[in-house]
Amino acid sequence: MSRLPRAATSRLILASVTVMTTLGVFGFAERVSTQAGQGGVRQAAWPPALRGPAPGEVEVLPVQGQVFLITGAGANITVQAGEEGILLVDTGLASMSDKVWAAVQTISKGKLRYVINTTEHADHTGGNATIAAKGETVPLRERTYTAGPMGTLEYNRASVISYLTVLHRMSAPTGQAAPTPQAAWPDNTYSTPQKRFYFNHEPVVITHQPANTDGNSVVLFRKSDVVSAGDLLDLTGYPLIDLKAGGSLQSIVQALNRLIDTTVPAAHASGGTLVIPGHGRIADHAEVAYYRNMTTIIRDRIQDMIRKRMTLEQIKAARPTRDYDARYGRATGAWTTDMFVEAAYRSLAAGTN
Ligand SMILES: [Zn+2]
Repeated sequence: MSRLPRAATSRLILASVTVMTTLGVFGFAERVSTQAGQGGVRQAAWPPALRGPAPGEVEVLPVQGQVFLITGAGANITVQAGEEGILLVDTGLASMSDKVWAAVQTISKGKLRYVINTTEHADHTGGNATIAAKGETVPLRERTYTAGPMGTLEYNRASVISYLTVLHRMSAPTGQAAPTPQAAWPDNTYSTPQKRFYFNHEPVVITHQPANTDGNSVVLFRKSDVVSAGDLLDLTGYPLIDLKAGGSLQSIVQALNRLIDTTVPAAHASGGTLVIPGHGRIADHAEVAYYRNMTTIIRDRIQDMIRKRMTLEQIKAARPTRDYDARYGRATGAWTTDMFVEAAYRSLAAGTN
């Protein structure tokens, strides 16, 4: 396998993950049926052991076309690199910035031109200050230009793009203490449904898609056929719903439905458009559909329990996530199953979209 080109290796890893996923689902079904042991089918371990970087280390994986993935630095970091330079989607945790930048350099020595933040959370924007400073924005004027409103444009930094609410939550009104330093703030925000530009000979389509906050961005690399989805897809657990930032389970379901509309599967419902989740492995149409089904089923169960006037405690006791807990549940850590059910309940009870 080591002699294969990197892209082929990546496809093999993806293919084997798909096979393991399928085996895992059947394995689970076997345990609850009376068919176990028949036909000599070896039961796959669940969850499957996936190879990943050692703690504190990052790893680069080719995705497809001009797009690469850096894992291990908090949230997944998407890299698009070509003739015109480098574009990153998210920058990972602040503590990992040096390792992330070293990894970017193994993909391309070109100039970093753009950073896109899918959300304001620190595992996605922590590296902004250090990493954006390594770049240089695409100059709109001669460097000697001083007159007019572009006269003070900061060239010595990559342009940091986000939906407007991300800047609002990372900064603060004049005179108040901001939660993050100014060097980390987006300087190129949008407040329209989409922001689009052409970079490295491909359309980059950024769509505002409320999901786990009210200001998520989803980035489509239209020629490479890769979507960087951010936290509306978290394959390591249940989606993190940030109620304070306007997130809701209902918006996540809507966002996943829209993501499915963007992804086109290749043969046998696998491959085709590839999706980089906020956390976890590279996905395709089928995996997004499975995740959408999971969030939809849980939403409907909780909604139904709310209609029956069950209290939050009664809903938690009824375990509306029960059949998905083996795959996505967590009893400890920063985002537990209990917290997910509670946030889902609160967003549905409030009727938030
Ligand atoms: Zn995240």
